[in-house]
Amino acid sequence: MSAVETRTMRLVLLGPPGAGKGTQAKVLEERFGVRQISTGDILRANVAQGTALGAQAKAFMESGKLVTDDIIIAMMENELAGKDSFLLDGFPRTVAQAQALGTLLERLHLPLTGVLLFDADRDTLFKRLTGRWTNARTGRSYHAEFNPPKVAGIDDVDGGPLVQRPDDTAEVVAKRLDTYERETAPLIAYYGSHATFSRIDALAPIATVSAAVNRAVAQSGTVLP
Ligand code: ADP
Ligand code: ADP
Repeated sequence: MSAVETRTMRLVLLGPPGAGKGTQAKVLEERFGVRQISTGDILRANVAQGTALGAQAKAFMESGKLVTDDIIIAMMENELAGKDSFLLDGFPRTVAQAQALGTLLERLHLPLTGVLLFDADRDTLFKRLTGRWTNARTGRSYHAEFNPPKVAGIDDVDGGPLVQRPDDTAEVVAKRLDTYERETAPLIAYYGSHATFSRIDALAPIATVSAAVNRAVAQSGTVLP
């Protein structure tokens, strides 16, 4: 990966499942050489490898519920150790996780530099998730209609196979969107008063969203954790 412009940033990508956080995280990774940390990707890798963490997380993930805060917080303390630049995708997802992140970053003297909220309506999210095709190894995603790969079932970037996630079925998607409203949407108020909180219109085409993300990142400074 050769970044166009390396830059230190510590961003939270906030928003409902299907809003395009992962898609934009990959664009930011390529542009700024900053690493995406996706809790969903880490958990799925653990499920696939049959680790103890994967065994604890599997049933929650399959039913569209959140994995418990203590498991996620311990996992993220590990992930963040020694990193001064990162994109958090899918974390924090509860107020308790946001508080734990704040405490950790305060201890490390590494405040967040921005919080980006990806805003989209439920109908759009539903269509995006049920048409999503994912590279299980890298987490990169495509959409059958909105962002198709050049060859069906094959990742343009690394040629790997694309699969539909078991939790991207209509039934589990409905539960995940309910879970978001109940447990994660309160983070909009939690982070909303931060100086570098930006609301991004996630309904726009991918390139337009990327431009809005770039503008938000260019403006982002340092905020208290
Ligand atoms: P999406 O990218 O569609 O928003 P994710 O890949 O982030 O979905 O998450 C998939 C599943 O992994 C969630 O439904 C949940 O069970 C679990 N998960 C991921 N991140 C967290 C988190 N921060 N807290 C609790 N559970 C999580
Ligand atoms: P999240 O990580 O927030 O769950 P993804 O980045 O995986 O969301 O995107 C969900 C689905 O929507 C994927 O199939 C992706 O290709 C598609 N998608 C992402 N951004 C857009 C967009 N701006 N317009 C249309 N489809 C999009």
